[in-house]
Amino acid sequence: MKETLYLDTRDRDVTRPTFSDVVVKGIAHGGGLYVPERLPELTLPEVLSFGDWPYWRRAAALFSRFGVDLPAERIDTLMQRAYAQNFDDERIAPLVEVVAGMHVLELWHGPTSAFKDMALQCMPLFFAEAVERKQQAGELADDFLILVATSGDTGKAALEGFADRAHTGIVVFYPAEGVSDIQRKQMVTQRGDNVGVFGVRGNFDDCQNAVKAAFNDEAFNEALHAEKNLRLSSANSINWGRLLPQIVYYVSAYADMVASGGVVAGEPIDVCVPTGNFGNILGAYYAKQIGVPIDRLLCASNENNVLADFIATGTYDISGRAFVTTPSPSMDILISSNLERLLFHLAGPTHVRAWMAELAETGRFRVDRETFGAMRATFIGDWVRNDESLAVIRRVFEETGYLMDPHTAVAWEVAERLRDQNPVLVVSTAHWAKFGADVYKALTGVAYDDALPAEVAGLSGVQLLAEVQALAGDGARVPRALAELDAAAERFTDVVDAGRDGVERAVRAWLG
Ligand SMILES: *Cc1c(COP(=O)(O)O)cnc(C)c1O
Repeated sequence: MKETLYLDTRDRDVTRPTFSDVVVKGIAHGGGLYVPERLPELTLPEVLSFGDWPYWRRAAALFSRFGVDLPAERIDTLMQRAYAQNFDDERIAPLVEVVAGMHVLELWHGPTSAFKDMALQCMPLFFAEAVERKQQAGELADDFLILVATSGDTGKAALEGFADRAHTGIVVFYPAEGVSDIQRKQMVTQRGDNVGVFGVRGNFDDCQNAVKAAFNDEAFNEALHAEKNLRLSSANSINWGRLLPQIVYYVSAYADMVASGGVVAGEPIDVCVPTGNFGNILGAYYAKQIGVPIDRLLCASNENNVLADFIATGTYDISGRAFVTTPSPSMDILISSNLERLLFHLAGPTHVRAWMAELAETGRFRVDRETFGAMRATFIGDWVRNDESLAVIRRVFEETGYLMDPHTAVAWEVAERLRDQNPVLVVSTAHWAKFGADVYKALTGVAYDDALPAEVAGLSGVQLLAEVQALAGDGARVPRALAELDAAAERFTDVVDAGRDGVERAVRAWLG
């Protein structure tokens, strides 16, 4: 099959790179994102055939249809590695019909119990493969060092995905006071010879700014290159290599819904996604574009509701917005980077360049009527308050016995508000046990802003999960990797100063 080439959403990179190229490059020079020049078209029988295969083969089939520039057998091999016993359910992305017509797609059966695994168990394999091939072809002499600033989930999923991969090292920086006990333990107990983890004195912004400053420090980049043959890379969520795996599970879910009788073959479903950086919901958009019978895309936000407002009004405006803390921190976002890809498909590169420049200068942009209409033909959005999302966890648990995490609860509530006659696929992005403290508050009726009651306030994150289990009973299983965290050895205990120098010194010390 002919390989697919990639366009730059701002049309400044006109080199037309392949999949392997864009996975290694990440972002286009000039700030644009890569999108495929053409999309495959799947017939209904092709979509339904996914239901007959193991998940790895569904992924391999879709990657081949997207014109990934690797031999089909090699794609098969990598996918068999990506989606295997590292997931705790052999279906990988199973569906649960929690109430009639509301189908929850569980994307948290991977090693870190959150949806980032769906992409990060896969993309690093393609990254290492691309580097290997480029080195063999003499196009590249260096290895890569992935630097990540994390507010929690991404860091662990990236560590788990890049651990012991060839040609890469990974160093993660987290805000020492800004992550939960469980999140910190997940990171500092990470296995692997090529991984490093550092706490940073400061909040997530300090952490992110320090890592950005290191990326932009030319002297630092040159020194790493000269002394260690290393280039810096970020592997962040705008990398196309993280998006493509997120299209697979929508094709997969539709086929499974037909097989289970949840929808009649060919009839439409709606998809409701708890949204932050717009990557997951964009996967659903591409699935619709290539032929999966998806009608509406329901975009669910928390109190950081810039996207819900944008979909309602056509104006994206962060100029007067303050960042709010919520029980669904992985959706706490002001600039939703992947939205740029949707705008490119709806309006083209000239508009994208103008809007992104306006956003950078004024903190807002407004799309034209035609683009707004095109967006509204597919997307609607709504948002959920902090205490409402906790109340949803309790209500759904009491009514159905299904326990969900606060991100999923946001999507559930929006799906209930906006649903019509179509069956809804509600996307579940984290296991409840990743957010045990807020689930505890939800089940016991403690307000989000209030502290945990004294009798549980001193417990470790893992001990608190046992309390939730005691409340919730049989339905509330804790994934083994989380249950064992208190007993695991902490490998990484260093905490460094915020700022560029702190990060750069940490990287140098880690490299030795
Ligand atoms: C990253 C994340 C999200 C948001 O996904 P986007 O692709 O950024 O929209 C939602 N929930 C959880 C648990 C996440 O980790």
